Amino acid sequence: MNKSNFLFADAPDTACFTCCHVLDKNKPILYVSHDEDGYWQFLCGKNHNDEDARIISLAEILNIDETMNDLAELDYGEYAEAENEKSDWIVRYKNK
Ligand SMILES: [Zn+2]
Repeated sequence: MNKSNFLFADAPDTACFTCCHVLDKNKPILYVSHDEDGYWQFLCGKNHNDEDARIISLAEILNIDETMNDLAELDYGEYAEAENEKSDWIVRYKNK
């Protein structure tokens, strides 16, 4: 991956959360969260158990889906949801 294609302020090797559906089953990423503690989550949008969680790097997420760069500016406490792969992202603040 070209370095100029990495738009996140965090380092490419920053650990982030994804789920087994995205990583192992090629499901689209439909839920992206930038948690208030700084963690990124890139999930398929379904419900998850702890066993479904996978930890990979931001660079690996972009290898899976380069369009995640569109969400690199999500602020702490914001998350984005999409209904399907083709619909627009809707950004919201998390309720406290
Ligand atoms: Zn999932």
